[in-house]
Amino acid sequence: MNHEILTAITEKIRSYDSIMIFRHIRMDGDCVGASKGLREILSLTYPEKTVRIVDAQKSEYLGFLPADEAEAADEDYRKALAIVVDTADRDRISNQKYALCREVIKIDHHIPVDAYGVLNWVDEDCPSACEMIAALYDYNRIEWKISPLAATYIYMGMVTDTGRFRFGGINGRTMRLAGMLLDQGIDTETLYAQLYLKDYESLKFRAYVYEHMERTPGGAAYIYVDRKMQEDFGLSFEAACNVISYLEGIRDCLCWLAFIEGEHPEDGTRVRLRSRFMTINHLAERHHGGGHACASGATVYSREEAEQLVREADEAVRKYKEENTGWM
Ligand code: AMP
Repeated sequence: MNHEILTAITEKIRSYDSIMIFRHIRMDGDCVGASKGLREILSLTYPEKTVRIVDAQKSEYLGFLPADEAEAADEDYRKALAIVVDTADRDRISNQKYALCREVIKIDHHIPVDAYGVLNWVDEDCPSACEMIAALYDYNRIEWKISPLAATYIYMGMVTDTGRFRFGGINGRTMRLAGMLLDQGIDTETLYAQLYLKDYESLKFRAYVYEHMERTPGGAAYIYVDRKMQEDFGLSFEAACNVISYLEGIRDCLCWLAFIEGEHPEDGTRVRLRSRFMTINHLAERHHGGGHACASGATVYSREEAEQLVREADEAVRKYKEENTGWM
């Protein structure tokens, strides 16, 4: 743990009356948990400061969480310190008005793309941005305050970004920080119910996916979810994107991909890529994307490009299997 950067971030926070917290587009549990958890901690610790999250984007999946703040005026941004969590590059920050802020701090666990902050705390080995927020709180625990709600936000992000503490990268510190959060009084039964409950219709879609998914001879599983499928099953785009999780855990399929057509064909088709053991971010980088070693995103602009990406995934899995043992 680099204490210098933690001290520098803490001092910067102390020196501002107004703090605005930002996250990435297509929000997920980690960026929402990190932003809301940090907001809560700072509001409790510094009641005299204004701490805000202004983000027009919404998530159905995380709709059970309290809403963010409403709009802010440009002059509010100009006097604020921006803290951007869980976002590797500035283009993916969901509220681009962050750039109006007086200074920017970046807190992220992705492979670094832009060092867009005056302070950049990037820990690629950390399995979630929420764990970084938990560590920042823990570093300041004598001065900073926390509540069950703040702990719940941060714990929720740790849980969702680590596949419920299953993915590589989690270690003793992850569990110690999670334990520290649990000690604040998290209602885990309600939290897990909110994370796991499914609509009846979405299970029909899942059944359809299992009927129609495909796999390459090398061991890449994939599904293409076109607009018609989304309309037939009454799915929002966000719900359709969850399809990636259905393909997880197929024996011998070390890589899995979901192609989800958006409303505007000219914006391309979203691709979500996941893998076990092998690294796949290089595949995403060839198709307008990037991400983590085993979880990446990309965009393809035609059915042919989608097929090409599947071939590349097939080749990467074959190569991995040839060169490694112990995979399943
Ligand atoms: P997703 O499947 O969209 O949840 O993406 C998985 C991971 O890849 C996330 O950590 C994203 O931040 C990252 N990612 C997704 N799309 C892109 C992109 N176009 N460029 C860089 N990173 C991405």
